[in-house]
Amino acid sequence: MSTKTSRISGFHKLSVPERVDKVMAFAGLEDDGLRAQFLDTGNLPVDLADRLIENAVGTMNIPVGVATNLLIDGKDYLVPMATEESSVVAAVCNAARQCYESGGFTTSMSGTCMIAQVQLVDVPDPAHARLAILERIEDIRSLCDACDPVLVKLGGGFRDLEVRIVDSAHGPMVITHLIVDTRDAMGANAVNTMAEKLASHLEGWAGGRVYLRILSNLADRRLARARCVWKLDAIGGPEVRDGIVRAYEFALMDPYRAATHNKGIMNGVTAVVMATGNDTRAVEAGAHAYAARKGWYSSLSQWEVTAAGDLAGSLEMPMAVGLIGGATKLHPMARASLRVMDIQSAQQLARVIAAVGLAQNFSALKALATEGVQKGHMSLHSQNIALMAGAVGDEISIVARRLVELGTVRIDVAEDTLRALRARED
Ligand code: NAD
Repeated sequence: MSTKTSRISGFHKLSVPERVDKVMAFAGLEDDGLRAQFLDTGNLPVDLADRLIENAVGTMNIPVGVATNLLIDGKDYLVPMATEESSVVAAVCNAARQCYESGGFTTSMSGTCMIAQVQLVDVPDPAHARLAILERIEDIRSLCDACDPVLVKLGGGFRDLEVRIVDSAHGPMVITHLIVDTRDAMGANAVNTMAEKLASHLEGWAGGRVYLRILSNLADRRLARARCVWKLDAIGGPEVRDGIVRAYEFALMDPYRAATHNKGIMNGVTAVVMATGNDTRAVEAGAHAYAARKGWYSSLSQWEVTAAGDLAGSLEMPMAVGLIGGATKLHPMARASLRVMDIQSAQQLARVIAAVGLAQNFSALKALATEGVQKGHMSLHSQNIALMAGAVGDEISIVARRLVELGTVRIDVAEDTLRALRARED
């Protein structure tokens, strides 16, 4: 039986330093600088961190890098990316450099609508109920729009209604979709409020009982699109092009490969979503659900050969990001990222993110189809390994270089190399 308990009543009411003390006492930790580390919240003021989430005890700094060379819809961008993974920022810079001269990326967006779902169960006559709900579209519009006059004033609000009948172990469910234009907001809170408001009305019109009232992260009314042509001479010739197309065909047909293919796309996407204070999980859930929309999990991107023999890449995926709500407006770094990119609308941000995702995918596929990812990865990774081995200052790059020369980027080899280096210098 444990002598310590995680039942800490009123933990949320404590100040951040008081919580840190409790946590350290619970874990039996000495204050060897750890307390100060918790309380160093970097560029996110501690009060703000405490307001953004519950039970805050600190922050987690992630590097923000800037992707260069991005020409998107005729405009040059420097794109901030928050990621802990080496190679991610470099991959975008490289891909964008190889298509800069030929015009860069062209992007578009299907709209800014989100879907809220209301689940009705135990409806005796689901087909009949479905039509009864559809007939109420104007009542539903008024009820939804009345929830958010600010949104309506900004040109958003209720747009359309869908009612689906979905089978379940307990019989058919009547699922109502509220389609709402949330403009520059990601829109989760906005549409959830509408769904909750509507619940009792739906029960009245259709019978049955409402359970869930929540947005869908499969934001397929909010698709961001990016396309780009990489000229053959810029990418290294037909072998590279064909290798990329073959790699794509693999991802198209095989979910084991598609998961990794799409993870590469998300390396770029999530980093910009994070740097702008948006909800990474919402975008990721939407991406993977969209990738499986045909009934099997597949590639989010497409790769083809143009009539001129060049390589054409395209990406279309849900992109529920906003400039308002959540941390987007509050986090100082999120605001700084938006200013660096001179972002004026959620659509513009979503389009930039799609271009970054496509660029990331290009670099990963090119590396895989040619030299493999390890060469590029390892030179950056070797620096992390050198750091882990205890290298400091100039030692880091000396040890990292040696690891790459040896072709063995391992901690034990880094430790040996560091020992030998220090012995030579003594
Ligand atoms: P929000 O409610 O904070 O802000 C949106 C509201 O801001 C709108 O309803 C509108 O009234 C107002 N507004 C002001 N200017 C606007 C403009 N230019 N365009 C649009 N609206 C404007 O935020 P939200 O976007 O509704 O919700 C986003 C948050 O919800 C995120 O933090 C997300 O993490 C969280 N969330 C996500 C999920 C999910 O993804 N499943 C579920 C619940 C909550």
